[in-house]
Amino acid sequence: YAAKQQQAGTVVYHPGLDSTSEESLTLLSELRYAVDHNQLRLFLQPKVNLRTGQVIGAEALVRWEHPERGLVPPMRFIPFAEQTGFISTLTHWMLEQCAQAAAHLAAEGFPLKLSVNLSTRDLMDQDLPTRMEQLLATQRVPSNTLVLEITESAIMDDPQRALQTLGRLHAMGLRLSIDDFGTGYSSLAYLKRLPVDELKIDKSFVMNMESDLQDAKIVRSTIDLAHNLGLSVVAEGVENAKSWKLLSGLSCDEGQGYFIARPMPAAQFLHWVRHWQPPDTTDEWLSTEFA
Ligand code: C2E
Ligand code: MG
Ligand code: MG
Ligand code: MG
Repeated sequence: YAAKQQQAGTVVYHPGLDSTSEESLTLLSELRYAVDHNQLRLFLQPKVNLRTGQVIGAEALVRWEHPERGLVPPMRFIPFAEQTGFISTLTHWMLEQCAQAAAHLAAEGFPLKLSVNLSTRDLMDQDLPTRMEQLLATQRVPSNTLVLEITESAIMDDPQRALQTLGRLHAMGLRLSIDDFGTGYSSLAYLKRLPVDELKIDKSFVMNMESDLQDAKIVRSTIDLAHNLGLSVVAEGVENAKSWKLLSGLSCDEGQGYFIARPMPAAQFLHWVRHWQPPDTTDEWLSTEFA
């Protein structure tokens, strides 16, 4: 595997990469270079209300436009950025981009919510709330425009500190979402104590819910759990009309997935929003036989 990467002329993260190796130092300097020379790209993937089809906002997903490798997906460098602490630079870049994008969308008549993924390291960063405050003030965007997505595992790494940071961010008005819900190791006791607003059901459950009864039951239970706790619930991985209908039938609030749109460069998002035609989510459409 490593040899193959070298053939391509660059290094990318792989699970065995030792963060003190030469390979790793090269990757780190490439990442620094990427930030300084505008090689990172903000992609946005729409989130819609499954009952009305209305666009609610989008999830911000990073891409690395590498001069030789093309668009590098986040899983190829995010774990490495987390290991080395570089993630705080990347998170800050994403937050800045999102605050700008949100301000621009609002000015065009679309005050939408943008969700940003945070990692464990970000939750340990005591300066994050202060930096966030400055950012929101500079861009003049209301704090409830930004949603922070955190995984269960990131919280459970150090629940006390996570609780502290998240408490401060929530008090500032930011919305908090638990990402990939059901895949991590989590504790309902913490879920109860966290100032969370939203649960996101992992796509691994949603993508198979039509054919796998167990997955369907997990999706249904998660939706009920969220609603019983007063939280809103989002399904990831909505890949076809059938899953939209099933989720809507289960009262899932929002959906995100390839059936609605793939992640797109931020510059295309406004155009997409203007032209989005939801399937007419009338009772008739919802009750037609699954295609
Ligand atoms: P995530 O936060 O769970 O994001 C959802 C992932 O599911 C995205 O992959 C998205 O493209 C993909 N997806 C959405 N709808 C569908 C669908 O219908 N079918 C399928 N097969 N996939 C779908 P992506 O963009 O490759 O990101 C992967 C992960 O990388 C994210 O998972 C997140 O954990 C991480 N990530 C991405 N951007 C950032 C970032 O800026 N910061 C941090 N810390 N992590 C990020
Ligand atoms: Mg996410
Ligand atoms: Mg997710
Ligand atoms: Mg996921």
